[in-house]
Amino acid sequence: MTATQPLELLAPLSGVLLALDKVPDPVFSSRLIGDGLCIDPTSQTLCAPLAGVISDIQDTGHAVSITADNGVQVLLHIGLDTVNLAGKGFSRLVGEGQRVEAGQPLIEFDADYVALNARSLLTLMLVVSGEPFALLASDSGPVTLGQPLVRLSPGETAETEDEEEGDALFSKPLTLPNANGLHARPAAVFAQAAKGFDASIYLHKQTQSANAKSLVAIMALQTVQGDTLQVSAAGEDAAAAIKALVALLAEGCGESVAAPVEGVEPRVSLASTSLLRGVCASPGSAFGQVVQVAEPALSIPETGGGEALERAALDRGLHAATEALQSLQAKAVGSAQAQIFRAHQELLEDPTLLEQAHDLLAVGKSAAFAWNSATLATAQLFQGLGNALLAERAADLADVGQRVLKLILGIHDRAWELPERAILIAEQLTPSQTASLDTHKVLGFVTVGGGATSHVAILARALGLPAICGVPPQVLTLADGRQVLLDADKGELHLDPDLAEIEQLQATHREQIARRQRDVAQARLAAITRDGHHVEVTANVASLQEVEQSLSLGGEGVGLLRSEFLYLDRHRAPSPEEQAGTYNAIARALGPERNLVVRTLDVGGDKPLAYVPMDAETNPFLGLRGIRLCLERPELLREQFRAILASAGLTRLHIMLPMVSLLSELRLARTMLEEEALALGLTELPKLGIMIEVPSAALMADVFAPHVDFFSIGTNDLTQYTLAMDRDHPRLASQADSFHPAVLRLIATTVKAAHAHGKWVGVCGALASEALAVPVLIGLGVDELSVSVPLIPTIKATVRELDLADCQIIAHQVLGLEEAAQVREALRLYHAATVETSPVVEH
Ligand code: PEP
Ligand code: MG
Repeated sequence: MTATQPLELLAPLSGVLLALDKVPDPVFSSRLIGDGLCIDPTSQTLCAPLAGVISDIQDTGHAVSITADNGVQVLLHIGLDTVNLAGKGFSRLVGEGQRVEAGQPLIEFDADYVALNARSLLTLMLVVSGEPFALLASDSGPVTLGQPLVRLSPGETAETEDEEEGDALFSKPLTLPNANGLHARPAAVFAQAAKGFDASIYLHKQTQSANAKSLVAIMALQTVQGDTLQVSAAGEDAAAAIKALVALLAEGCGESVAAPVEGVEPRVSLASTSLLRGVCASPGSAFGQVVQVAEPALSIPETGGGEALERAALDRGLHAATEALQSLQAKAVGSAQAQIFRAHQELLEDPTLLEQAHDLLAVGKSAAFAWNSATLATAQLFQGLGNALLAERAADLADVGQRVLKLILGIHDRAWELPERAILIAEQLTPSQTASLDTHKVLGFVTVGGGATSHVAILARALGLPAICGVPPQVLTLADGRQVLLDADKGELHLDPDLAEIEQLQATHREQIARRQRDVAQARLAAITRDGHHVEVTANVASLQEVEQSLSLGGEGVGLLRSEFLYLDRHRAPSPEEQAGTYNAIARALGPERNLVVRTLDVGGDKPLAYVPMDAETNPFLGLRGIRLCLERPELLREQFRAILASAGLTRLHIMLPMVSLLSELRLARTMLEEEALALGLTELPKLGIMIEVPSAALMADVFAPHVDFFSIGTNDLTQYTLAMDRDHPRLASQADSFHPAVLRLIATTVKAAHAHGKWVGVCGALASEALAVPVLIGLGVDELSVSVPLIPTIKATVRELDLADCQIIAHQVLGLEEAAQVREALRLYHAATVETSPVVEH
């Protein structure tokens, strides 16, 4: 393209000019984005400085780019750090792709609001296409809207469309960490880095691609935090470009993206830090060497060799992947891992995914390209739904997607050659990667992504390995072989551990193993405090297998059967007979003397169920969750009641309703249960209780108590709703703490109300599985602790080491503290003074 006509740019605003060098922001003043000028505005409508097409207008309305017919591209950016205003104070008057005339209004803004709420109102006009530039006015002083301000002298500018040549290399998908996506500043840093390579480079988001050397193209992708991106490159230095740009994206392209778990720490560079923090995904500790787990870049040809041929290649890949997954299921460590691979197999059969891939084959794309695009787009969709469990599904999809992709491309995974004492570090460790690990050589996992409920966490717990997740991306730059200390209990990775720390940790580790062996050996003993108070310790389960395991570990019944998990990975609803069969088998395993508390479907929020389709909700945790959803779809609940009631008489049957916040919900559900029981000819109803996991239910426990047989406190949800902190939010993980006195006070209120009406109270949230919390829960009067299966022996042993009278005193004390950290500290001191001085009985 030629662009030889001189071109004048008009002032987009009235105001006072400021030389670019004086702008207090290095990305602009260093001309990283392009040369231009700055106006301190006195008007409030940004107008087009030239005619052209809107090549990008940010959703937040703070920046807009125009491309003229001759290729000149101008970026207008209102204010500094205004991306943080998330659109407040800006109204867009034009849309992307729209042609505009010079002087046409583009964006209106509220100057007062922006000036008060952003770092600065200084507005930039930058020529990002790089044409030589002459100012027609002095570089300081007043300007008037529409006044000619700049003359561009475009010379012969060759067409610089950067077509990818030959087969491109693709990076593995990565998650964008920047809080505000790739807005002007990080996009400029990224584009600048890309320009340092000869290769043609593209940044991909779902089906959109942007030339990575073009700031505007990157901004036009409108990325947001959590987007799945891929970098592709073609040319001699493609591999180096991908490596560098992926690392840059992981680090935040010059923005702070660390997730300081304590909430207040500024980002620290690896050079100056000796500690990285994350969240405990699986407890324990290890001292070992760093092994970075990076997927090799894959070369994906875009164009296929004919639809029939490519379709056959895709089918072969899918078939081979299914076979591989079946054999992985057979070799899986425990049911959790097997379930994950079964879920992967289901994903391979997903009709929407296959349809997307076939559509791309039909327009001439290669099998690898079609499959990769379809999985990326679907993973992105999952991630964008604002649902933690679905976001983790996105990681599964990426995993199974890569498996098929490699099979199509003929790349064979070989088992890793791991060094001894490996601490694996990865952006996200996929189930497939963990399945092919030599677990004798691995001591622990550290991941940037994932949450405490992610599959990596599940697998780490199944393997008994310590793991932390949500660690800042700098961890990916640690050198292989570096000796590090992983203290998963505290969520810490020590980069320069000293000998004393290592010895201390190893001693603690040995003690923990000795305690565990002792606790398991004594698991059958009842949980009775030293002063004779019995506390029932039951299990939280999601399968028959877990019920059986709980009994072998001394579990006294089931305090929470999460019924939605029985069929989590199914696309079709189980038949009524199948449901009844499952409850029946569990009831028989427990026998007539033990409690079985079946929680009715708790779908929605963090727990989608594939066969219960739901509308997307802006705020799913506050939406149609649990009992609310069931009351909207009464047939679902009635069918479940019938299936549960089929086990009446086999065990001490209890039915529990989740997410109850209103008395009317309990009343409606009770009426349905009574009707179903009557229809089945039952003379006696099973016990009916509710979960206390919403503050309204806890505060009104005295009103609910006469209408229930029992309460069970769900501290996971109770914490998130009390503190208004998403239970899966990686940055809030350390603050969304169930030890917070606010949560403990609600537990106290609930117990008091229940006991006043002669009803028992359990705690089935994760707080009950924390040995540190046991004294306070017992002291507050909780009657039953329903805990995660492997922890049954520990919790029972802890109860046996306590005195009820002491627990009541400490419980009373901690209710008066100010924050969770103080509660934890007080309990730690109490624990050290009591439990740890108890003699360890060797067996
Ligand atoms: C809870 O919220 O504490 C609970 C036990 O239920 P879930 O974790 O299944 O939501
Ligand atoms: Mg809950």
